[in-house]
Amino acid sequence: MSDTTGSGAAPVGPASPADVSDLAALDASALAAKLAAGEVSSVEATEAALARIAQVDGGEGGIHAFLHLAERARETAAAIDARRAAGEQLGPLAGVPVAIKDVLCTLDMPSTAGSRILEGWVPPYDATVVARLRTAGLVPLGKTNMDEFAMGSSTEHSAYGPTRNPWDTDRIPGGSGGGSAAALAAFEAPLALGSDTGGSIRQPAAVTGTVGMKPTYGGVSRYGAIALASSLDQVGPVTRTVLDAGLLHDVIGGHDPRDSTSIPEAWPSFAEAARAGQREGALAGLKVGVIRELGGGSAAEGAEQGFQAGVLQRFHEALDLMQTAGAEIVEVSAPSFEYAIAAYYLILPAEASSNLAKFDSVRFGMRVDVPGGTVEDVMAATREAGFGPEVKRRVILGTYALSAGYYDAYYGSAQKVRTLIQRDYDAAFAKVDVLATPSAPTTAFRIGEKVDDPLAMYLNDLTTIPANLAGVPGISIPSGLAPEDGLPAGIQFMAPVREDARLYTVGAALEQLLVDSWGGPILGNAPTLG
Ligand code: GLN
Repeated sequence: MSDTTGSGAAPVGPASPADVSDLAALDASALAAKLAAGEVSSVEATEAALARIAQVDGGEGGIHAFLHLAERARETAAAIDARRAAGEQLGPLAGVPVAIKDVLCTLDMPSTAGSRILEGWVPPYDATVVARLRTAGLVPLGKTNMDEFAMGSSTEHSAYGPTRNPWDTDRIPGGSGGGSAAALAAFEAPLALGSDTGGSIRQPAAVTGTVGMKPTYGGVSRYGAIALASSLDQVGPVTRTVLDAGLLHDVIGGHDPRDSTSIPEAWPSFAEAARAGQREGALAGLKVGVIRELGGGSAAEGAEQGFQAGVLQRFHEALDLMQTAGAEIVEVSAPSFEYAIAAYYLILPAEASSNLAKFDSVRFGMRVDVPGGTVEDVMAATREAGFGPEVKRRVILGTYALSAGYYDAYYGSAQKVRTLIQRDYDAAFAKVDVLATPSAPTTAFRIGEKVDDPLAMYLNDLTTIPANLAGVPGISIPSGLAPEDGLPAGIQFMAPVREDARLYTVGAALEQLLVDSWGGPILGNAPTLG
């Protein structure tokens, strides 16, 4: 276990599990079992999470995973305890605290999407996923920090200051959902929600040693998720274990008539799929494709593609473990993936420029008055003051890419690349059951290292973007600590559209093999705490 906690900051998170109370350290499934057995109350679990937040989240050098805390978390927890005491049959995660990415609308808390332009804005409704959390009896703790409008890979583009990685507080926790991932890794919350447009669930999970799942496009409602790029956005779980992700996905997923892209068919239980992965022989006969263009070839090819040596090493060791357990590893090629980042950074800004047009100083949030000015002057002044540099960069790029005369050359070409990427997936899934890549090319980089270099930042999404372009599901689970820096690395699995359950089974099976090989979970060994 690495002992790098950064300079001057209080030791937190995985580096100092002894500081974490037993209750705050429990995985959601273990906590849920204790709640159901009456061994602990939801109020106690909520108090433990809030105490941990108070201990590590604030102040100079604090984690800063949270932008807002729920005022009524204790009352919510007490109400669940009362229902349980009255003998009511509650859902499997009832009483478990949960952190919510600030991109999701919440009736009782501000929803800023990390932007100044929405500072203090309290939505008039809950996102469907948030409403489902409440119905299932989960206890919202607060809203988590993120890159402004989910644009970024480090959480440094938040208008409210960066989140720090609990493994090393001088480093980024990934992005855009760094707050949710850091909250889990620092034991501030047992469950969190994220959103993933190009990797914002999976890459933060990878660099914090947690689990992140981007469902099939249309598998989880986007109603009330502040849109970045509507054809790419998906809401999903961020957790410490694959089973916890399955449990949370079961709560938030499924058809929502309020989202026109929501898939109407029923889904299997993802918690059951994860439990199936924990059974003997779950990987026998599974065909796993490694992608030559994404770390699946030789170490030299991987280095040329931008992968850190230790990340590749842990990736291949994980595959070896799977092979020992009966999986077959097959190399496949996805030649169009090379163009994924380029296509994404045309499609995303195009959709974002259109989605962000609604922040017009009239309908939502901030308004900068311009005495004697026209309505256009007020809009311009508001957007100038309310948006940060990355948002402006993308709005300008997207508006340009969509303008008459350039539409076919840029947006049109990018959409054709998108089709080619989908065909690469189809060809690969004709040969294999799942595809595997490292979840991100490197471990967590340092705060400040890439924030002024947009292209370097964009390259971090190398492995995650293709899944969004094709709408396929992807999960990231910890693959180990990279030997050169002692920081977490992740392995990603992808499956065909609607085969999310397969990812839970495969993820849980590998997780079990890895945890056994490490002698305990990567985020400290919970049972030995306290
Ligand atoms: N890092 C990517 C971007 O900046 C992905 C963001 C996301 O998934 N929301 O667009």
